[in-house]
Amino acid sequence: MTVSRAISSLDWRGAADAPPGDLVLRQARVLDPRAGVDAPHDVVIRDGRIAELAAPGSAAIAGAEVIEAEGLHAVPAFFDPHVHLRTPGREDKEDIETGTRAAAAGGYCGVLAMANTEPPIDTPAAIESLRERAGDDASVPTGFLATVTRGMQGSELTDMAELADAGAAGFSDDGLPIRNARVMRRALQYQALANRQIALHEEDPELSGGGVMHEGKVSAVLGMAGVPSVSESTMIARDVALASYEGARIHVQHLSARESIAVVAAAKQAGVAITCEATPHHLALTDEAVRSLEARFKMNPPLRTDEDRLALVEAVRSGVVDCIATDHAPHTSDEKEVPFEQAAMGVTGLETAFAAIHTALVVPGLLDLAIVVERMSSGAAAFGFELPALAPDAEANVTLLDLESEWEPGADGWESRSSNSCFSGRKLQGRPLITVAAGRVAYRRRSFAMGVAP
Ligand SMILES: [Zn+2]
Ligand SMILES: [Zn+2]
Repeated sequence: MTVSRAISSLDWRGAADAPPGDLVLRQARVLDPRAGVDAPHDVVIRDGRIAELAAPGSAAIAGAEVIEAEGLHAVPAFFDPHVHLRTPGREDKEDIETGTRAAAAGGYCGVLAMANTEPPIDTPAAIESLRERAGDDASVPTGFLATVTRGMQGSELTDMAELADAGAAGFSDDGLPIRNARVMRRALQYQALANRQIALHEEDPELSGGGVMHEGKVSAVLGMAGVPSVSESTMIARDVALASYEGARIHVQHLSARESIAVVAAAKQAGVAITCEATPHHLALTDEAVRSLEARFKMNPPLRTDEDRLALVEAVRSGVVDCIATDHAPHTSDEKEVPFEQAAMGVTGLETAFAAIHTALVVPGLLDLAIVVERMSSGAAAFGFELPALAPDAEANVTLLDLESEWEPGADGWESRSSNSCFSGRKLQGRPLITVAAGRVAYRRRSFAMGVAP
């Protein structure tokens, strides 16, 4: 990847609006870890860009909308490289409008949607059609990945160069691994021509078998078939070897096991071009939750042990894990309100990601807020997009956070069409109040008052 693209180069309905008005976040605590900024400022947004970080209370505000932000944190807005918007085909679970509204409410200024829809996205026409719909319906800039193999069948590659020309933001068969090593190798060769990232759901189906949860003590007690950690780590090791051999780059999705972290860390040490992500649920929860037999704790890869979780937290801290991604996977209640073993895999995540991590890891002192804020947006870089920055002349991608706010996810409903959250019913602390995406206000919490200066 040579040149980074602006997040605003993705498709969304704000792109067609009239130029945005001026906005001032007055006396916000500005936290931009990449820029080394952690101090109160007036954040001045003009023509969709950050005009300046002025001394607190000093910004000229005539004609601007003013948001009194004292006591609130202004951070680079989040970017999620891994969501499922279920369009086309399963709009009963989610669509572009509801999924991106959930993203905006979660503080995201951009998302990348996976291609395992019905049918899978494997033609330039399908990419073009989704981009057009995002132009009408998306609350935040949205990119669409195309599949690596035709129909996600795992045998024949898609036309990756043509798909990239049509605007595919990357490639993935997410939902399924690429079983065949020869196909994977060819994909890495074509990916270089297409100049787009390839995102990998790493799992050896033979090892996973019919597993429904992590293979370990809890699965033994419950008598459930388990998915062993090595189902993930051995496939990552194979793809690291192939990427290294081909001089290609890969992005590993939803890392869950400590064995996998060891493989990624060694690959990075050896200079392989690899990035990876971890989800809020793998960082906050363990397979102990499955004892409840509630299907909202069923996802792929499964929740693992506390040792795995703590290893993931440390990998986020050290940077072995590059970014946090939700793997937002909406399902209808029909598919979840069934016995655990029969339930669909996956949980929603966009509306709870920051709060879940803040509550589980920042409040108890396991991770610094600055690290979390950095990792919540760094997935953009793994796919060749500019990183959100609170710096003069940067495109305005800003989230205003209230770190004190306590709330119960789902108590006021969801923006998402689905409610299969593994965090509903918990008390979480911290919440986005305003999301500015590509210079425009994409979300504001209803109860949050503000005024326009004379
Ligand atoms: Zn996956
Ligand atoms: Zn996924």
